[in-house]
Amino acid sequence: MTHSALLDADIRAKRYGNRTILDNVRLTLAPGKITALLGPSGCGKSTLLRIVAGLDRDYTGSVALDGVMQRGPSPLAGVIFQEPRLLPWLRVADNITFPERARGAALAHARALLDEVGLNADDAARWPKHLSGGMAQRVAIARGLFAQPRLLLLDEPFSAVDAMTRMRLQQLLLTIVETHRMAALVVTHDIDEALYLADRIVLLEPAKGPSTRPSSHLFELGAARPRQRESLAAHPLRAILLERLEAAVMA
Ligand code: ADP
Repeated sequence: MTHSALLDADIRAKRYGNRTILDNVRLTLAPGKITALLGPSGCGKSTLLRIVAGLDRDYTGSVALDGVMQRGPSPLAGVIFQEPRLLPWLRVADNITFPERARGAALAHARALLDEVGLNADDAARWPKHLSGGMAQRVAIARGLFAQPRLLLLDEPFSAVDAMTRMRLQQLLLTIVETHRMAALVVTHDIDEALYLADRIVLLEPAKGPSTRPSSHLFELGAARPRQRESLAAHPLRAILLERLEAAVMA
């Protein structure tokens, strides 16, 4: 394991019944870096994220966070899902500080996070039902940051919002990662999102038949930031990923 790795996951095998979903997947992630987990629907991206989050321990292999073997969910890792999953009976601030109540220093921290995710301190007192989808997801990001994690785990975090909001939230993620020197693992099935966000892309490919195994491939992006979305359309990796994804979907 490299010393600077915040996350070092070595998943030998993950099975559901006699079906192998993940086979020898290695993931390492350093502070300030983003890895995208890319692959067709059903290839095991969420499964891998849940393992890294400590939410699924039914696998062989190991996950180390900051050099410590993980045995369950850790405050080092904040998780953000596709839907904001806000508790409707709690105001925004209490959702962010949950299970703590938003009072005193906790409320001040929640307000600072709202500011960081582009919301207003006044939004702290709102009810979730009065938020747009994009605002609710910003609150979910603030909640994910509340415990000051060093790793963010995001499962298709921007799939449920409109295209413009999605671009703004992608930009927000880049800013957060840079400001806090966090590591982030982002599940996506969107090549362009992966190319825009990631330093590395791990492509998961499902087994192509009953006698073959699923596989994973690591691609280093090496593209400078800030990145131009238009020029990423011509990135050489784009055509390679597209071809492999299409083949995986057809298999
Ligand atoms: P992805 O996130 O890439 O869409 P998932 O990780 O959600 O894929 O699922 C990977 C595969 O594992 C899928 O084929 C799915 O049907 C299967 N799967 C997921 N959860 C379970 C479960 N609890 N029991 C059995 N099979 C499951």
